[in-house]
Amino acid sequence: MHELSLCGAIAETALEHAAGRPIERIRLRIGHFRQVVPETLQFCWEVRVDGTALEGCALDVDYVAAQVSCNGCRSTTTLEHPLLLCGSCGGADVTMTSGDEFLIESIEVGSARAKQVR
Ligand SMILES: [Zn+2]
Repeated sequence: MHELSLCGAIAETALEHAAGRPIERIRLRIGHFRQVVPETLQFCWEVRVDGTALEGCALDVDYVAAQVSCNGCRSTTTLEHPLLLCGSCGGADVTMTSGDEFLIESIEVGSARAKQVR
């Protein structure tokens, strides 16, 4: 269950950026290739922050579809499975264009002021 260690990393980064201020909401961007199960992530988050300074902090996640562009037929396709093959011609000579993201987009501290991490 790698979601629990992900939550640990998210919590640490968020606390660092908040520098002691209360955190209300964390926005994440997670690519399809990361194979994160949304329900598991939420569950692990609640377990991880229970009894900590982050208790009650909402986790908003944008899940990004996996896309590859094919160097053979030049088409860009969205992948259902984490297999690096062109969805058009089946070729393996592809470049991943999205789906590998794992970013904390913003952290809302105190009175809903969003702090940009990137
Ligand atoms: Zn192709």
